[in-house]
Amino acid sequence: MGSTGTASAREVLSRFRDPLLAKAIVERIHEYAEAIDEQLLFMHVCGSHEWSMTHYGIRSLLPSSVEVRAGPGCPVCITPASDIDAMVDLALEGKSILTYGDMSRARGTKGSLLDARAEGGDVRLVYSVHDAVTKARREPDREFVFFAVGFDTTAPPTAYEVLKGIPRNLSLMVSYRYMPPIAGAVLRSSLLGVDGVINPGHSSTITGMKPYYRYFLETMKPQVFCGFEPIDLLLGILMLLRQIRDGKPMLENEYTRSVTWEGNTVAQESMERVFELGDGYLRGVAVVPECGFMLNERYKDIDACTRYSLRRRDTREEFVAGARCGEVILGLCDPPECPLYMKECTPSTPKGPTMVSQEGTCKIWADHGLINSICRL
Ligand code: SF4
Repeated sequence: MGSTGTASAREVLSRFRDPLLAKAIVERIHEYAEAIDEQLLFMHVCGSHEWSMTHYGIRSLLPSSVEVRAGPGCPVCITPASDIDAMVDLALEGKSILTYGDMSRARGTKGSLLDARAEGGDVRLVYSVHDAVTKARREPDREFVFFAVGFDTTAPPTAYEVLKGIPRNLSLMVSYRYMPPIAGAVLRSSLLGVDGVINPGHSSTITGMKPYYRYFLETMKPQVFCGFEPIDLLLGILMLLRQIRDGKPMLENEYTRSVTWEGNTVAQESMERVFELGDGYLRGVAVVPECGFMLNERYKDIDACTRYSLRRRDTREEFVAGARCGEVILGLCDPPECPLYMKECTPSTPKGPTMVSQEGTCKIWADHGLINSICRL
């Protein structure tokens, strides 16, 4: 338990709002890990969790037997290259593409939307779907496409706008993903071999805990719904360890101030009225059943895929030569294990999507990651 006594550990703990509380939790984590006496691998599936893990140096406080890796939790990173390519093609054909800042920088096989803008395409950045609707209304003679990416947190506002009625000159390229099946795939994966999963806080506030229960019954592996404060993550890790130590796996909720069993039923109802779930491809990783949101039959006329006869692919070879983006997204390797990391690929010269997005593991490690390289104090 010397980990909390070293000068480096004290420095890391001093970043916490309540260093003494953090120290007490860390000591308990070490105690539980010692009692379990096994190598353990936990995974989270959320870019914001990775940001807190890295920014606050949480890995450096953990015992060497407890590893926490980032899984597929960054929406820009998992958006298929073929969806980006389709948007690039439409931009170059004269349609106006509306999307978020990070998404405009992620490259498909034909470059990024910002590259398309440099070639004369009309690519505009928006802050929300409402912003997209407003822009389309202002110019009724132009054809707009909103490139809709994200998880359960960003899908409900889009569903709400669709239910209210969007202008006829706007269509949607829906690349939303539903998180519970992704967490389920992580739990089931023999390749990853995780011992427990830290479930995301924001998207679980919408979905609730309920849809995760089937994956718990299937795998009987510990899951904890966790908030984003560093203390939340320490507690989440402690809860996973306690479940393992006691031999009582469960679906546990650390983030009780936001996540409930049922979730936000109003948002869920809006999503159910507008979308249906089908196979969803996570870029460079796999097709995950029931994780892809699609506009349902009633709204096919505003689906950009239908309107412009777009074809979606799920190609695996879609990163630059030598890049290990797919493995980083899946949590099979850390960014410094990619030969391009901080050489050809930096935040100002990103070669892969995980270096583009604020929620991408490579970008987070590049911005804050020195502390990750001094793990295991
Ligand atoms: S460093 Fe760049 S190329 Fe390598 S995995 Fe990260 S984003 Fe991909």
